[in-house]
Amino acid sequence: MQRYFALPDHFNEHEVTIVGDDVHHIVNVMRSKEGEKIFVSDGAGRSAVAKLVSLSAKEVRATIVELLNEQRELPIRVTIGQGLPKGEKMEWILQKGTELGAYSFFPFSSERTIVKLDAKKEAKKLERWRKIVKEAAEQSHRDVLPELLAPVSFREALKAGEQYTRCAIAYEKEGGTTMHQVLTEMTADESLLVLIGPEGGFTSDEVAQAEAKGFLSVSLGPRILRTETASQYVLACASYQFERTTPSSR
Ligand code: SAM
Repeated sequence: MQRYFALPDHFNEHEVTIVGDDVHHIVNVMRSKEGEKIFVSDGAGRSAVAKLVSLSAKEVRATIVELLNEQRELPIRVTIGQGLPKGEKMEWILQKGTELGAYSFFPFSSERTIVKLDAKKEAKKLERWRKIVKEAAEQSHRDVLPELLAPVSFREALKAGEQYTRCAIAYEKEGGTTMHQVLTEMTADESLLVLIGPEGGFTSDEVAQAEAKGFLSVSLGPRILRTETASQYVLACASYQFERTTPSSR
């Protein structure tokens, strides 16, 4: 069965309405018919099996057959703040990070980021990146559709830290706290923001600014990871720490 996301206010306990690009996929690509079933999520944690009841060029309506309790989400909400990387790396970070359970992402510019996005380029990139996140969330059967926020400055990234239970800046230059230490002090339903530097890393001054704002300088292990690998390490650690048992036995 194919999996789709519907807008939360188009999803109630009786029926769901799908609009936008997915209508074309259901009607013209999959050539689905009334009576067939799909998986559908509201992107905010609810998923269900639904039966198609009406298909038009504008919208697809389905009745909810069974609400699912798949527990596909990391018990803590992990947000990745990613120093804007060069080339296509952001696509890779978003796709793999979504599969590994990231709750949300935002890119940021810092002293050593090379990529500069003007308004037009940014809008185009965000549209493409959000499509990648949605496809990865459907493929990995996520109940949550990770949010991808628009790029911010480093200063704004630090300010955003005020909304999280824990904040860390991944810094390879000194011993620092380990991910294990950060995660063992957290409990389910808390939120973690981790800032990952671009290819050139963070300046020591940026790390000092982050620490002054309460960010922990955290080590991601003894090896130097590429910028696109670092967030995957963080998310894998969070899964190891909080998803030790299979969902059914949790
Ligand atoms: N200074 C690095 C070097 O010597 O190549 C360049 C930065 S590294 C390629 C990109 C980012 O990944 C860093 O800014 C940091 O946020 C994160 N990172 C990579 N390895 C790490 C490690 N072992 N501990 C903590 N952070 C790491």
